[in-house]
Amino acid sequence: MQDRYGHRISYLRVSITDRCNERCSYCMPQELQEWLPRHEILTYEETLRLIRIAAELGVSKVRITGGEPLTRRGILDFVRPIPEIPRITSIGLSTNGTLLAREITPTKTMAEALRDAGVQSVNISLDTLDAAVYSQITGRDFLAQVLDGIDAAIAAGFDQIKLNAVLMRGRNEDQLLPLIEFAAERNLLVRFIELMPVSTTEVLNESNFMSVMAAKRSIQSAYGSLIPETEFRTNGPATYYQIPGRAQRIGFIGAMTNMHFCENCNKLRLTCDGKLRPCLGSYLEFDIMGPLRAGASDEELKQFFVNVVDRKPREHDFRNNYQPNRKMIAIGG
Ligand code: SAM
Ligand code: SF4
Repeated sequence: MQDRYGHRISYLRVSITDRCNERCSYCMPQELQEWLPRHEILTYEETLRLIRIAAELGVSKVRITGGEPLTRRGILDFVRPIPEIPRITSIGLSTNGTLLAREITPTKTMAEALRDAGVQSVNISLDTLDAAVYSQITGRDFLAQVLDGIDAAIAAGFDQIKLNAVLMRGRNEDQLLPLIEFAAERNLLVRFIELMPVSTTEVLNESNFMSVMAAKRSIQSAYGSLIPETEFRTNGPATYYQIPGRAQRIGFIGAMTNMHFCENCNKLRLTCDGKLRPCLGSYLEFDIMGPLRAGASDEELKQFFVNVVDRKPREHDFRNNYQPNRKMIAIGG
């Protein structure tokens, strides 16, 4: 699948729930805290069918997200068939990490079970190592569980583990170096992400926004000039740098300030309530659950995907007075 601007779609982000056990201020502001009823959520069978159809159209990478995907029951049974889908070569999961260390049998953690089910990489959100600040940001006192979750993910032996930290002035600007050191000690890849005006426009304001450039400046004042790693890429728009004198690599995701951010976009999003979104930062979304539940054939659903991709914008709209029409928790990041 290719859009009119030459974006080739190979990556589907699949949100399986809008529910979460945390309440991050930038994702779930107070006024948006209510869940969708169950029947409005795609069943696992429906979601798997759509992944299979997307794979037939060129998607090779799937990332499972939420809400918090590990709060939905039966996730392991959902994941297991995905590696069997022809052409799917990469399966990732985005999580807040709180439930990764949970023992689901006397000998197995959730992290190990996910690895066994076929998940190859996990992205774990961690904005701070300070327990009080963690509670302020997430509305929950779960830092210790997340740290246990990270240990469990390391022990499970995923191919890749990334830590994602959202940059917030006045909240975690003093945490950049501690997070880099934390990642270095565990040989993990940490990435710093600019706050985006999703969920409500108020989540981002002049006083809490911290640009990638400002974060880089602060990191460079401690470690010296970061060395660009132009050859290294993961699945998304992050740019990577090496810390001088170390093998450690860190990443930046500058959706707001990087003018080239959308150039190589390869993503399509499926929300838990069956909407295809061609772009995170555009109000455009298309209801595929309707035709799916009305009995559409695989060919008809394929055409639906193709039509959605055709509507993919050249770039996101975040810099142009973007009006959120859906909370982040119901898109999946
Ligand atoms: N619950 C999981 C988690 O927290 O990783 C997966 C879903 S969460 C919506 C996916 C990612 O979106 C997280 O890394 C989170 O920090 C990020 N996110 C949420 N709201 C954001 C915002 N307003 N700006 C930038 N990133 C945001
Ligand atoms: Fe939940 Fe993740 Fe959103 Fe935080 S960012 S509220 S953990 S879905």
